[in-house]
Amino acid sequence: MPNRPARQLVKNQRILTAAATLSVSEAATAMRDAKVGAIMVVNGPRLVGIFTERDALYRVLAAGKDPRRTTLADVMTVNPATIEADLPFGQALHIMYERGFRHVPVVEDGQLVGMVSARDALGPEMEQVKAELLEREHITEILG
Ligand code: AMP
Repeated sequence: MPNRPARQLVKNQRILTAAATLSVSEAATAMRDAKVGAIMVVNGPRLVGIFTERDALYRVLAAGKDPRRTTLADVMTVNPATIEADLPFGQALHIMYERGFRHVPVVEDGQLVGMVSARDALGPEMEQVKAELLEREHITEILG
């Protein structure tokens, strides 16, 4: 299990949040500029929802909604699952796998500190998986 604490993955991250009243069009622009696939929706300091590229596709585009007239409140997922910053990244991957999404906001002392995504697993953890697969191949060769 990837053991790096979630905190380590988000430490240099700019926290991207939006109010639920923001239009989908403005949120998409912010996501494009920040080069991320999801935005955390807040009410003051409180996390109230998440809006991802999947929502833009399924709940806006495919539903024939106008992104300029649709607000995040209309199409976000409310009360998203989060992970505490000191927990291992592997636990976030576990939640993503079990619940079928690719983003998990990270919280510390009740405050939002960032967001991990399934893409983060393409870093050192992917190297670890590659090394394990190579080792397995090597063992298979030795055993003939
Ligand atoms: P994703 O795969 O992350 O683009 O998200 C797929 C669906 O799950 C979308 O409807 C998201 O709004 C929702 N979703 C994404 N992350 C979370 C989360 N941490 N908790 C609950 N729902 C989420």
